[in-house]
Amino acid sequence: MENKQFETKAIRAQLERTDYNEHSAPLFLTSSFVFDSAEDMRAAFNEESDDFIYSRYVNPNTNEFINKICLLEGAESGFATASGMSAIYTTFMALLKSGDHVVSCSSVFGATHAIFTKYFPKWNISHSYFNTNSVTDIEKLIKPATKFIYLETPTNPAIELIDLELVASVAKKYHILLIVDNCFATPYLQQPIKFGADLVIHSATKYMDGQGRVLGGVVVGKTELIHDIYLFGRLTGPSMSPFNAWVLSKSLETLALRMDRHCDNALYVAQQLEGHSKLENVSYPFLPSHPYHAIAKKQMKAGGGIITVSVKGGYEPAKKFLDSLKMIKISPNLGDARSIVTHPASSTHCKLSETERLNVGITPGLIRVSIGLENKEDILKDLLQALEN
Ligand SMILES: *Cc1c(COP(=O)(O)O)cnc(C)c1O
Repeated sequence: MENKQFETKAIRAQLERTDYNEHSAPLFLTSSFVFDSAEDMRAAFNEESDDFIYSRYVNPNTNEFINKICLLEGAESGFATASGMSAIYTTFMALLKSGDHVVSCSSVFGATHAIFTKYFPKWNISHSYFNTNSVTDIEKLIKPATKFIYLETPTNPAIELIDLELVASVAKKYHILLIVDNCFATPYLQQPIKFGADLVIHSATKYMDGQGRVLGGVVVGKTELIHDIYLFGRLTGPSMSPFNAWVLSKSLETLALRMDRHCDNALYVAQQLEGHSKLENVSYPFLPSHPYHAIAKKQMKAGGGIITVSVKGGYEPAKKFLDSLKMIKISPNLGDARSIVTHPASSTHCKLSETERLNVGITPGLIRVSIGLENKEDILKDLLQALEN
């Protein structure tokens, strides 16, 4: 399967056929597995065994999903979790100990920021934020206790880009790990391991499912790291449910098709909105006006499905704009077939102080638009009529 193209892997890397000769992979809703003998069960409990024991550890459906993501990301191994946040939390807890330090990009997902600021101090783990593509600025933050560099690109919600190759070179130089939350790009648009990342994390809830149905998360990368994450996960129980894994494995069959359309629609809408008299700014990585356009072209196949617009006049006009939309709904999710709008300053990032928000580019008028798979003219029309209001 390794030498096949992305779309083929996403479709064909499915579970082996059972005795029923099914064509589409079946669902294994079983919490545990049986053994032919006491000796077989003893052998299965050896940590190195890959026999199925109990679905908190692994299950055929979660294995199928993990295997697909490994193929798509070019990773050796993986572990699937109940949500994106449980993939992030499990990775942190498996790799970090009291006294450790983490360097992270400042513009991280709101809940990840909350783990760093609210819970890390409780466990005597510290963090430093960078907001830059400068090697020297990142190097200044690294201490002897630094365990890894953590980043998202494109960032949520400001759609800034971080140069993966550059940050990977810093991590290599200091013999620390690079962990990338690749949720916004998906492996179809960007494969951080190719640029030197050690671990890649996803919220599968977003584009991987793509239809707003299930929660899921996954972490993939080097086998020795994943083994530690897996052992911690199998004890503590953040595992993905077999049902969600089955849904997600099917969803991946159409990931490439869906991402092509998300990207086409998003680029079109961004181009049409750019320069609108009611907007201060339109941000999309594949617009030549984007400050990190060159990095986007270097590491991404296309610009993704998220655009941001800044409404002139701040919060009140932004609120009015959201309330004037007829088809597009207000929701915290993204990466859905349905277009979605979010006002980060008053919702997903309301726990940050005003200064913290401004530091990561979240102005009061900033709106995140997750461009869906509807007809692009219909999406644009709804946004335009709301702007006129
Ligand atoms: C949504 C999201 C997460 C968290 O994923 P859940 O599945 O909601 O737990 C993490 N990182 C990014 C970038 C996200 O967009």
